[in-house]
Amino acid sequence: MFFDPLYFLIVLPAFLLGLWAQLRIRVNYAAAEQMPAPLSGAAAARHILNSAGVTDVEIEETPGHLSDHYDPRDRVVRLSPEVYHGRSLAAVGIAAHEAGHALQHAYQYAPLAIRNAAVPVAGFGSNAGIILIILGAILNMNALLIWLGIALFSGVVFFQLVNLPVEYNASARAKQQLAMLGIVSQDQMYYVSRVLNAAALTYVAATLQALLTLLYFIVRFTGRSQE
Ligand SMILES: [Zn+2]
Repeated sequence: MFFDPLYFLIVLPAFLLGLWAQLRIRVNYAAAEQMPAPLSGAAAARHILNSAGVTDVEIEETPGHLSDHYDPRDRVVRLSPEVYHGRSLAAVGIAAHEAGHALQHAYQYAPLAIRNAAVPVAGFGSNAGIILIILGAILNMNALLIWLGIALFSGVVFFQLVNLPVEYNASARAKQQLAMLGIVSQDQMYYVSRVLNAAALTYVAATLQALLTLLYFIVRFTGRSQE
């Protein structure tokens, strides 16, 4: 059961979508990186936050490629070196997306609060859920353990589902602010959209993978436990 071809077969569409999304990010990022912007990513994020009256969120540089994120606990927007310093449409697009998460937080956007609350649930559900399912399988296909494990694992699916509107909303806010503040013109927005849409596609792939893994558990173990 540790190497089950059925699992790879069921999860294959999510895997392929994930690969496609990675390719889209690479291609669209490279294109948008060639397009100059009037500000660096860090300056764009600062400008967006200041003009929204959000002055208590810091903007920091963090190592890594595409390591950009908003940390709601420390209230810090962390940008990778190329986004922090970059004066391209790719840099301001990604920086504005992370600033968009900070705006969601400042304006108490409900799906973000639900997502943040679901983070520990999903982490626990992923580990404990799979352990219970394996334990149930070892213990003579114990249906109670397996179903308890499947229920816990569905917390991961819930997290991924609630993550999607959060990500799409952050990108929508980013594009709105970039246009409103005159950082990106209307015809240049195309390049920003392509980078942000490709990034969003990776979250769609992750959601699909969690859903299909859940489906696999159900297909694999409901058949067995009835034997
Ligand atoms: Zn995001």
